[in-house]
Amino acid sequence: MEKFNLSTSRLNALIKHLMTRGIVYAPHKNGEVSFSFDEVRDPGKVILNYNRTLQSIKKYFLPPREQLLSFSLKSGSLSKVEPENPLRIFLGVHSYDMQAVLRLDYNFSQGNPELNYLKRRQNSLFIGVSFEPDTYHFSRSVGIMVEEFDGFDLFLDKHSSGYTLYVVTQAGEELLSGFDHLEEAPDRPATHREFRNKIKYNFNRLSEVFDHAWDSSVWEEIAQRCVGCGTCNLVCPTCYCFDVEDDVNLSLADGSRYRSWDGCMLNSFAKVAGGENFRADLSDRQRHRVYRKFKYITDVTGEPWCVGCGRCTAYCTAGISIVETVNRLCEEYEQTVLRKPLAKQDWVL
Ligand code: SF4
Ligand code: SF4
Repeated sequence: MEKFNLSTSRLNALIKHLMTRGIVYAPHKNGEVSFSFDEVRDPGKVILNYNRTLQSIKKYFLPPREQLLSFSLKSGSLSKVEPENPLRIFLGVHSYDMQAVLRLDYNFSQGNPELNYLKRRQNSLFIGVSFEPDTYHFSRSVGIMVEEFDGFDLFLDKHSSGYTLYVVTQAGEELLSGFDHLEEAPDRPATHREFRNKIKYNFNRLSEVFDHAWDSSVWEEIAQRCVGCGTCNLVCPTCYCFDVEDDVNLSLADGSRYRSWDGCMLNSFAKVAGGENFRADLSDRQRHRVYRKFKYITDVTGEPWCVGCGRCTAYCTAGISIVETVNRLCEEYEQTVLRKPLAKQDWVL
């Protein structure tokens, strides 16, 4: 794989070059402690050294609210709103957020393909950047390395004197054409990046733990603290549930159909006609959310649907940690099923 040196001082020149190729989105500071992906207008405002953005880049492919169509009841006609898909370049994406996009690709291409998502996704290029794990990241526990190249076209690996720029795909190579004075980078020893937040078991054993976790008291315990705000769903890069509503104008003659994000932690999510709610208890909703991340889809695809970004814990109104929840289930599994603690080599270290 080709790789080049990129000094920090040439980063702005690279961003300016990318802006001649397409619309560039990158992390920016948002207030004192938060970061968000926004369109780049001033390369000097891009921050590549960030812990996580509040929302992942999912918002560009599955907007929080979008108009699907407009209709006229008078004429009985409807007109579909076609999503735009200009060339978009996502710069400074962490590996877990890239993996989340690949998981959404799976969700939206199975069964009846979701064409709005897929159309927005078509014309996108991704440039990854390495990161230093903080106390919330645990992506390594779900099989995602900091320097995971899968899905990226280019990848920037930070080191003490700048970046090593890896060319991952042909599209990435084409993106660099016309950007001069790149020097080939020497081989460097891999940077050791320690994850302090860890799930106790290797991710491929979690499905087995969840086979025995349905009646755990953990669900009720975390439900005692949970306020059902739905923040964990809204910040999760792999949550993809949505609601569709028709908004009819006061004239009752025409209106629009909208799609908005929804979340399984909200009380209204499982409410059906007649007022029944098949997950009215917070403990049931907690269990459902965590099973969606580690069991239901994983049993079909072999991959956890949690990418270890740590957002749901970092932003939880009640300080509930998904890693602590899963580790508690692992401990219960040891005590009730294995009836012994696991040997050290079974831990994720
Ligand atoms: S963010 Fe925390 S408090 Fe809010 S629904 Fe999720 S787990 Fe419950
Ligand atoms: S479940 Fe939590 S840690 Fe896992 S991907 Fe979603 S927000 Fe990130």
